[in-house]
Amino acid sequence: AFTEVPYSAPEPLVKVLNKCAKDQNPNKIDVTIGVYMTEDGDSSYVFPSVKQAKQELLVKDPGHCYTKMSGVPEFIRGSQNLIFGEYAKDGRVASIQTISGTGSLHIAFQFLRSIGYNRYYLGNPSWVNYYPMIESIGGEIKEYQYYDNLTHEVDFESLEKAIREAEPQSAFLIQLCGHNPTGVDYSKDQWRQISKLVKNREILLVIDSAYLGFASGSIYEDSWAIRYLYEQNHEFLVCQSYSKNMGLYSERSGVIHVVLQDTRLRDNVESRLVAIFRNECSFAPAYGARIGAKLLNDDYLNKIWGKDVYSVYERVTNIKRQIFNKLTDLETPGNWEFVTKAKGLFWFSGLDKNQVNRMMNEYSIYMSENGRVNIAGINSSNIDYFCYAINKVVSQ
Ligand code: PMP
Repeated sequence: AFTEVPYSAPEPLVKVLNKCAKDQNPNKIDVTIGVYMTEDGDSSYVFPSVKQAKQELLVKDPGHCYTKMSGVPEFIRGSQNLIFGEYAKDGRVASIQTISGTGSLHIAFQFLRSIGYNRYYLGNPSWVNYYPMIESIGGEIKEYQYYDNLTHEVDFESLEKAIREAEPQSAFLIQLCGHNPTGVDYSKDQWRQISKLVKNREILLVIDSAYLGFASGSIYEDSWAIRYLYEQNHEFLVCQSYSKNMGLYSERSGVIHVVLQDTRLRDNVESRLVAIFRNECSFAPAYGARIGAKLLNDDYLNKIWGKDVYSVYERVTNIKRQIFNKLTDLETPGNWEFVTKAKGLFWFSGLDKNQVNRMMNEYSIYMSENGRVNIAGINSSNIDYFCYAINKVVSQ
């Protein structure tokens, strides 16, 4: 029965990770995948807020019975309040719990397909997994240029042109903040322009929120665009992941929100989301959602969580500043100021394929093929070696 199954090659990053795992060089640096690491290089770090929530769940164990079909209600409500604020009360948002950000995007794609939207505009470069996820449900992909390699800023003209030329019933999949892989986000002014461009156009924005809080250190500030689009009376979707900003990666905790203009449609839309989820997954995992619910709804834990998120921001911001200073001190050819402007975990270093390979083969420094660096993988004990190696591959 299975003789016709060809091998499905893993994404290129897996090759790099495998090579990295085998490398015995004591100076090895791993800045490949997008997980937070502490100053000690610890990726299993648990936020103090999460630790406390887990303790509470241990003392007052809610058990493991099925939850509601739409997910853990307090988690969903808390997630709505987090990003929509006061507007959450209006009843214009239909939401269910999902299998983290990836699951949220998948439900978004399935839902949109069910209403006749199956064309997606992606900014290039963007998260690599968007492509197979959309293709696997028969969606059409169109690209515009997200990033300008020369200026290290967004290529807004390209987005503008793409929106102007887009046919009705197109979706634009846009990351909210801490863009993966470029670390460069749309400004408030650019979000205002996006809002104007899509107005009355039968174009839906799908906002992917995977790094909320890491761009500015403030969840409230980072979620501004969501409330702005809401105020402008748009219909749009938000796919929310708590993998990074609660460090709940493997607990698979996320939510999908569909923002409607007409509150009367909410029950229908929510029931459609539940039906899609039921077909594919039945119930969403509860443990991470219960932790999340505590962080979102308990005033005390919410404050601690805010500090946890800020401390991630603070650490990566500090490291970026140090990288800039060190590369400058080493008289590395080029202007490296853009590293200080990168938002969130990622810095799009601009190293070309050959330089990325040299970093790997000559210095045991592993990053994504496109030159993306997870800044959290750099700390005071490896930053000098990291900058030294960049200086070498750029100079010679
Ligand atoms: N969107 C983006 C842009 C991401 O970088 C990621 C994680 N790498 C996700 C969504 C989904 O993450 P998860 O499914 O782990 O929540």
